Amino acid sequence: MITISNLTKSFGTFDAVKSVDIEVPQGAFLVLVGPSGCGKSTMLRMLAGLETPTAGTISFAGNTVSDGDRGWTIEPAERNTGLVFQSYALWPHMTVSGNVEWPLKVGKMPAAERKTRVAEVLKLLGIEKLAARYPNEISGGQQQRVAIARMIAPRPGILLFDEPLSNLDAKLRVEMRTELLRVHRATGATSIYVTHDQVEAMTMASHVAVLKDGEVEQFGTPQDLVAEPRTAFVATFVGTPP
Ligand code: ATP
Ligand code: MG
Repeated sequence: MITISNLTKSFGTFDAVKSVDIEVPQGAFLVLVGPSGCGKSTMLRMLAGLETPTAGTISFAGNTVSDGDRGWTIEPAERNTGLVFQSYALWPHMTVSGNVEWPLKVGKMPAAERKTRVAEVLKLLGIEKLAARYPNEISGGQQQRVAIARMIAPRPGILLFDEPLSNLDAKLRVEMRTELLRVHRATGATSIYVTHDQVEAMTMASHVAVLKDGEVEQFGTPQDLVAEPRTAFVATFVGTPP
């Protein structure tokens, strides 16, 4: 369970995220969706520990990991989260298997165990045959699979995705939705997935939070949002007339 309470992030006098309260059940696939600038990436960055909240708290399984009121946050490497960006951010000078092995080396996993783990995640993502290639020798879709393999290699309990499919063409994007859900289920992790694509949100999510101007307009299952949109904005968003 991830508990987000009264979470606020201000940049000067501007509130990018305003008093957000969300509870994410273990194993959920939560999609944060909303228009450009509504605070999605800022939320994810606070969950990853890359930003300290201005106010409010984030806790994982009952342990507080960020506390805006006390002004501290646990570092990304120490909070059991993995993050994948829109730009895959692979190391260009490392092979595919080198990229996936890298966080395990940082975590000081013994070499033999690393080898087994790398083979296991490359297989899960269907990229075993690309192990010896460099990032510039594989396609964008393959690079995104490598980025996901690298994220899950250390077995984080929480997977964070910031618009991971937006650089891919339309057909591949649809294929990758199924792939990502398969990986999510295989890891047993709780995932938080950012997108501004409402179809992606409604087809992938177990839970959706619709954000507007830094606030949660509505949180619920995709079925809840369609059946009972709470605001005209949500109704338009999910495609039901207000
Ligand atoms: P997009 O869909 O375009 O990626 P987003 O929902 O991810 O948008 P954020 O990146 O979270 O939006 O930004 C939310 C708001 O906070 C924006 O108005 C942005 O300009 C502002 N913002 C984000 N980071 C900073 C910063 N470091 N300093 C000042 N303002 C910022
Ligand atoms: Mg963003």
